[in-house]
Amino acid sequence: MNNTPRILVVDDSRLALAALEATFVNQGMTNIVTARSAEEALKLLGIDNGADPAQAADYDLILLDIVMPDMDGIKVCKRLKGQDLTRDIPVIMTTSRTDFESLRQAFEAGAMDYLTKPINEVELMARANSALALKAEIDQRKSREQQLLELTARLSEANKELKRLSSMDGLTGVANRRLFDESLRAEWRRAMRNQSMLTIVMVDIDHFKLYNDQYGHLAGDECLKKVAAAMQSCLRRPADLLARYGGEEFVALLPDTNQSGALQLANHARRMVQKLAIPHAASPVAEAVTVSLGVASAIPQQGQDAASLVETADKALYRAKNNGRNQVAAGPSA
Ligand code: GH3
Ligand code: MG
Ligand code: MG
Repeated sequence: MNNTPRILVVDDSRLALAALEATFVNQGMTNIVTARSAEEALKLLGIDNGADPAQAADYDLILLDIVMPDMDGIKVCKRLKGQDLTRDIPVIMTTSRTDFESLRQAFEAGAMDYLTKPINEVELMARANSALALKAEIDQRKSREQQLLELTARLSEANKELKRLSSMDGLTGVANRRLFDESLRAEWRRAMRNQSMLTIVMVDIDHFKLYNDQYGHLAGDECLKKVAAAMQSCLRRPADLLARYGGEEFVALLPDTNQSGALQLANHARRMVQKLAIPHAASPVAEAVTVSLGVASAIPQQGQDAASLVETADKALYRAKNNGRNQVAAGPSA
């Protein structure tokens, strides 16, 4: 609520409206909107038509006549208490009747207070002020709740980002060893349940020590980034994961992939790395940086663990190195 509260006064009598408005204006409350029928009031409140709901609901207090020809104030009150945007606006009923049945209905409909006509100025201001104080408190609580919601959302975003960063390799941006180990365990269990084939491909840059020696460690880092990106571009399925296994070694985790599919992928990755054409003058293998790859596939069996798959891939990689590097070797399909 701002300094001059916005008050809606609804009464079918022009005289009554004028009197109420004059009283408020006399007290410095100049932001008064009047309506002469239930229909007009609902329109102003954005309940029955296309009025901008935020603007329409921006009232701090409503004075509502109980007896009006088109629809009585009790029904109007019910309507606006049934709507999120208008629910928290305090309603004071005004009535010339003092019959308790209509008052009971008014309170049941959500009215906060009532005034009997003819309206006494002192009484009007006292009741209006206490209703406005309540509205100010409600507004404050709502804005605190909103702040809290925004804060919670920001915190959850930050947590997600933290989780993402904590599973990412800082240099290359691919998954780190921790995430790989976690994913391998999970995929191993899943493959065991489904008796599906799980494949991993170990990748190691050829003669990377010589590369560092010749071009320096920073150039080595740049090379690692490019090789990681090239490898990553070869993985197409959402469940595939490329991780930096350590140093200049990477590993691809490929669920539901058989050995022939993995061999194709590995050879494609090998060519992609060579196509980067990163000069490697000291390499006895080629003029550009190359990689060797070891493929291992398994349908996990009881009593077997995921480490055996890594071991098989390691052995295959070792064979690829021994056979001259810049090539793919596959371990036995267990
Ligand atoms: P091979 O073909 O048998 O794999 O030979 P290699 O020289 O690649 O293998 P080796 O294990 O002897 O050397 C690995 C090198 O990778 C040594 C190390 O300095 C380098 N290395 C490991 N991690 C990083 C890194 O983060 N940045 C850079 N620039 N170099 C790294
Ligand atoms: Mg190595
Ligand atoms: Mg190496």
